[in-house]
Amino acid sequence: GCGICPKKCPFGAINIINLPTNLDSMVTHRYGPNTFKLHRLPTPRPGQVLGLVGTNGIGKSTALKVLAGKLKPNLGRLNEDAPDWAAVIRYFRGSELQTYFTKLLEDDLQAVVKPQYVDQIPKAIRGPEKSVGALFNKQADASMGNLDSVLDVLELRHLQDREVTHLSGGELQRFALGLVCVQQKDIYLFDEPSSFLDIKQRLKAAATIRSLSKDNNYIIVVEHDLSVLDYISDYVCVLYGKPGVYGVVTLPYSVREGINIFLDGYIPTENLRFREESLTFKMAESADEFLTEKSRAFKYPSMEKKMGDFELKIDSGDFTDSEIIVMFGENGTGKTTFCKMLAGVLKPDGASKMPEMSISMKPQTINPRFEGTVRQLFFKKIRTAFLLPQFQTEVVKPLQLDSFIDQEVKLLSGGELQRVAIVLALGKPADVYIIDEPSAYLDSEQRIVASKVIKRWIMNSKKTAFVVEHDFLMSTYLADRVIVFDGQPGIKAHANKAESLLTGCNKFLKALDVTFRRDTQNYRPRINKLDSQLDQEQKLSGNYGIPM
Ligand code: ADP
Ligand code: ADP
Ligand code: MG
Ligand code: MG
Repeated sequence: GCGICPKKCPFGAINIINLPTNLDSMVTHRYGPNTFKLHRLPTPRPGQVLGLVGTNGIGKSTALKVLAGKLKPNLGRLNEDAPDWAAVIRYFRGSELQTYFTKLLEDDLQAVVKPQYVDQIPKAIRGPEKSVGALFNKQADASMGNLDSVLDVLELRHLQDREVTHLSGGELQRFALGLVCVQQKDIYLFDEPSSFLDIKQRLKAAATIRSLSKDNNYIIVVEHDLSVLDYISDYVCVLYGKPGVYGVVTLPYSVREGINIFLDGYIPTENLRFREESLTFKMAESADEFLTEKSRAFKYPSMEKKMGDFELKIDSGDFTDSEIIVMFGENGTGKTTFCKMLAGVLKPDGASKMPEMSISMKPQTINPRFEGTVRQLFFKKIRTAFLLPQFQTEVVKPLQLDSFIDQEVKLLSGGELQRVAIVLALGKPADVYIIDEPSAYLDSEQRIVASKVIKRWIMNSKKTAFVVEHDFLMSTYLADRVIVFDGQPGIKAHANKAESLLTGCNKFLKALDVTFRRDTQNYRPRINKLDSQLDQEQKLSGNYGIPM
């Protein structure tokens, strides 16, 4: 072990190899005796978008609250020993943070936060205004001059009369983002803006956030979708440490360097390794890793489904074992509907029939009704797999359920519940696994671990998986082939035949008018800046994203 984790490191990967020796002298805030400690702070710079990346429970939201001036950092000194703001500013003297806090207090800089948990927004609305439109009219500052464009770009126009309590997750996220972006402030903080959004909405949200940047304002974004973080940020600070115990903020790095440091688990300038395993996305490597001998073939017929005002047409298709098919499409184009039809939960209209297959499905929304602990749930639902050493080492351990396996299922957080749901789905014996939006509520590290777990388990057990996923890093890592959904969300949509990752990505990205390249170091997909030379070249040659 590394001497820090009290128990054996479950993954053999999250060990901290070495630490800065002077950590104790760098405490920015602690919540109480024997509670979480945040070391150092990210450095905001005027006119630039600062991105923050790090696992859940490492102090990102805490750092945002401090930088917003909403939480006075106590420098680790509790109660009557807690410093006042003047002492805090003295503590940061000589650094960019001194300038920042001085301005924050003396010039009375105004901060606004897009909160992480958008599902709590409806409860927090107290005034007489309850509808989307009324709240925008109340909050929007005319001096911003962007109300109309924000409503259009974030697709909020048709929701103006709707009460905030009736919004779906994705609608709430766009509402919360929009409401922040129409206010005239000096500091804009966005805590996880991409949750619940599809890839098109993520790109638009990113562009809207970037459009706020001015010479004299500060923008900070916490984001787990690394493609989005990459696209949105001008520079990046990484947070590492032990979730729930302490977090350390690194110095600022260029976007590429910062994200690669996070993936690598190593900070070259400090000669500091904070994760044993480095995370890469090389396609060739993942193909070599699994000996695929496809021995079985399945087919499904073309199908149609009408539900209320929504019409979905599905092209007939086929798939084999040892294959992962990823569904790409905007929200509301029928991906979940198709999953349910594959699973036999929903019947197609007319005479078409799904062939009989044994199916295991992780649904998009997880509502735990189970009375009992996680361990009891596993024993009840997937006893055989759970007792299998291979399932333990390849699925359960990497997903790090140890810390909450004896907790009541009903008390779990979103990210914990998601990992339990993934384990349940993979643990059920089936020919076909359907996994609807596994990245929801997971941090960037958990997303990568979950992708690797899903890929390894499906390939080694020679099964098939259909996966719906908006995180481009995850989806392109997982996909052997893809199904592209097109059409008008919520009205009339169409699922294409499964096709290669290459042609499918081209089709999907062309419709979004965006191109991707791969990082030369760890092969992660990176969004090209619109109209950059690469963007123009790739569009000309028809290579929207290059799988390799
Ligand atoms: P992140 O945003 O990176 O997931 P947070 O900053 O929300 O992390 O939390 C970091 C740690 O601090 C967590 O272990 C969390 O439980 C703890 N924490 C957050 N707020 C409080 C609080 N008000 N009192 C005590 N502990 C807190
Ligand atoms: P996706 O998973 O691609 O976001 P869904 O399959 O969940 O899309 O939904 C596609 C469309 O069908 C949405 O507009 C949704 O509102 C609508 N829809 C889903 N279920 C029903 C239903 N039971 N009755 C009427 N409309 C529905
Ligand atoms: Mg947070
Ligand atoms: Mg869905």
